[in-house]
Amino acid sequence: MPRRTAGARPAATKTCTACGRPFADRGKWRRRGVFADVRYCSDACRRAATRLRAAARRAGAAPSPDPRP
Ligand SMILES: [Zn+2]
Repeated sequence: MPRRTAGARPAATKTCTACGRPFADRGKWRRRGVFADVRYCSDACRRAATRLRAAARRAGAAPSPDPRP
């Protein structure tokens, strides 16, 4: 099994906004070029964060602005 290390760049990594763990770029994100917009390591974290935000909004907290270019 050949190792394709030559020319292969290491996967980009970032920290999950929900659980704080580092995670790496995935093929599906890289192919779509959406890794820059990905903030959660998994759907579970994304759902959890979304639920938390919704709960905070319902509780009357000021919604945090989410500026996007
Ligand atoms: Zn996470």
